[in-house]
Amino acid sequence: MKLRTRFAPSPTGHLHIGNGYSALICQQWAEKNRAELLLRIEDIDHTRCRDEFVPDMLEDLQWLGIVWHGEVRHQSDFLTDYHEALDRLQRIGVVYPCFCSRSRVRAEVENMGLAPHASDEADPYPGLCRELDMPQRKKRMQHEAFAWRLDMAAAAKAVSDVLAWRDSHGHHHPVDPFSHGDVVIGRKDIGISYHLAVVVDDAIQGITHVIRGRDLAASTGIHRLLQALLNLPDPVYIHHELLHDEHGVKLSKRHGALTLKQLRDMGANPGHLRDVLLDSSLGGAWSIEKFPDMGLA
Ligand code: GLU
Repeated sequence: MKLRTRFAPSPTGHLHIGNGYSALICQQWAEKNRAELLLRIEDIDHTRCRDEFVPDMLEDLQWLGIVWHGEVRHQSDFLTDYHEALDRLQRIGVVYPCFCSRSRVRAEVENMGLAPHASDEADPYPGLCRELDMPQRKKRMQHEAFAWRLDMAAAAKAVSDVLAWRDSHGHHHPVDPFSHGDVVIGRKDIGISYHLAVVVDDAIQGITHVIRGRDLAASTGIHRLLQALLNLPDPVYIHHELLHDEHGVKLSKRHGALTLKQLRDMGANPGHLRDVLLDSSLGGAWSIEKFPDMGLA
């Protein structure tokens, strides 16, 4: 079987060196394993993604020496695929409409004596709408905005097997559906969610190995569960370390990490950047001082 991985950035800004590192890790793995590397633009979230970043992203990746196989898949062109998957989850009765606002969830979490997380996404959903009966749901769906949540108890029952995701060492990591709470599978604003789109795409694109940053490892259990519910194949997962600065802080767009475009515009040498990023003795620690001969420090 042909091995296949993918790099799947979201155009919420220019690619930063952490993204470049991730793309290089994917490519290095693909070369070593004679696998194909696919490129996917994860742009379903029209509230955060902007089309104008995409041409620069492709150019940045080419500049860095990333060579992908075949056509680039843009998620926004395939919304019907994700809606079909959501329909299937509705048919097997493992999702329910949730009318709660973020502030409502937050207030309830506080009421329960739990400390809310910094990000609303990470708050465990206290299950308010799970208990609504069918007539109540139907009535409210007519005039209120709603999200679709995965009913973890129903989902766990629907997949009778004990689930686990596999890593590249052949280890099996058990999935505990309840540890995730009733996650949103269809967002109120955009109709679907990252979790749903990513498992559908990995299946459609025949991805055998998902290589991505450790920050996404917490979602892998949800993805494995969705694969089981939707009868999709389960790829092997590899979570690489994240690039961090000399103080150990993860590099991110939010923290103003240097972008590949900035480096490109400054005339940086991509071969040198590749060597620096893939130098395992760095242990993922990035600093501009690693570029003394580029005049950037
Ligand atoms: N689009 C996600 C990101 O940019 C990556 C998703 C994945 O690799 O599963 O963080």
